Amino acid sequence: MKKVGIIGWRGMVGSVLMERMENEKDFDKVQSYLFSTSLKGNKAPIYNNCHELVLDSNSIDELTEMDIIITCQGGDFTNEMHPALRTSGWTGIWIDAASSLRMNEKSIIVLDPLNKNKITEGLNSGVKDYIGGNCTVSLMLMGLGGLFKEGIVEWMTSMTYQAASGAGAKNMIELLDQMNYFGTEFDTYRLNNPGTTALEYEKLMTEKMSDPKFPRDNFGYPLGLSLLPWIDTKVENGQSREEWKAQVEANKILGSEEIIPIDGTCVRVASLRCHSQAFTIKLKKSVDIATIESLITESNEWVDFVPNDKDSTLDRLTPASVSGTLKIPVGRVRKMTLGDNYLNAFSIGDQLLWGAAEPLRRTLLMAL
Ligand code: NAP
Repeated sequence: MKKVGIIGWRGMVGSVLMERMENEKDFDKVQSYLFSTSLKGNKAPIYNNCHELVLDSNSIDELTEMDIIITCQGGDFTNEMHPALRTSGWTGIWIDAASSLRMNEKSIIVLDPLNKNKITEGLNSGVKDYIGGNCTVSLMLMGLGGLFKEGIVEWMTSMTYQAASGAGAKNMIELLDQMNYFGTEFDTYRLNNPGTTALEYEKLMTEKMSDPKFPRDNFGYPLGLSLLPWIDTKVENGQSREEWKAQVEANKILGSEEIIPIDGTCVRVASLRCHSQAFTIKLKKSVDIATIESLITESNEWVDFVPNDKDSTLDRLTPASVSGTLKIPVGRVRKMTLGDNYLNAFSIGDQLLWGAAEPLRRTLLMAL
């Protein structure tokens, strides 16, 4: 059995990865070793064929014993340890959730429902680095891959609504702390001031956002009862790095001969889990909605085409109905008033599953 080192298993992506690997009995197929930057030497949680102690994520000697390393630890860890391991002569397979190596010429961005052939070719020809795509990019391609494969997309905008857990475990807990802070203040005020109007409550809550005690160490700003229209750092052209990833990564995954322009605004919202996206798609030609529906639906088994009516949309096209599942609902599909070649669509996916952990575990299975 291959030795597989798992790094970052405590984090948001890592804990979903462990859940999936356990449910799908992946641990039966490998000899696994858990690594941590903060828990080395502790007893490891019990998984089949898993080493009993947690090893040290910063130990080159321990890591080079592995045939395959799968990491969900983050970009800083990758930037430090990947070159160190390769310089030490380690030639194992590196599977990573972080963005650091995605655009390297020698790496493949993995999303096997879209590019399984590319991954297989890579494994057969000695490619060593397999990197999960940006969560919104992977979820967008899972939903709209059929339109791209058909070659009918001229350009696209994607306006995102990204969950707090997309920023990591500490940030997601901070959102809950912010909600708790609001809830406690609201309850206390209501008890002592019966008859307060809605506008008075709104003013109170808005004021409370500037309270020095308001929890904001991780996001830096209130996300609860608000939103944050900037994710990640700035790139030179004024995009945020999250926005920049859409075009470069999607085209790399698709293996486009001619770049398909994709741009938009990425926004953090106060949902816990799942990234949602609103699309404007400029088609190369007029295509009727029935054909669009079949292209989307036939693209992969996880897509759920949601009819463009209010009840179906509110029932099936929300983070609440998608969280924790592999479903990729695509709805609000209609021609826009801008013209017959302009298509509107809205899609949601669990960014911790298809947006992160799932492509990694499926690549691991392919690499065994
Ligand atoms: P995370 O939740 O912040 O976890 C990263 C590491 O933080 C953990 O492995 C753990 O390492 C440490 N940690 C510190 N305090 C923790 C706590 N209270 N709970 C859990 N872990 C804690 O990061 P992540 O969101 O999983 O992201 C990992 C990588 O995947 C990043 O590169 C990210 O960009 C990428 N990614 C994330 C998502 C997403 O939706 N979150 C989606 C796609 C890609 P030790 O055990 O070593 O202390």
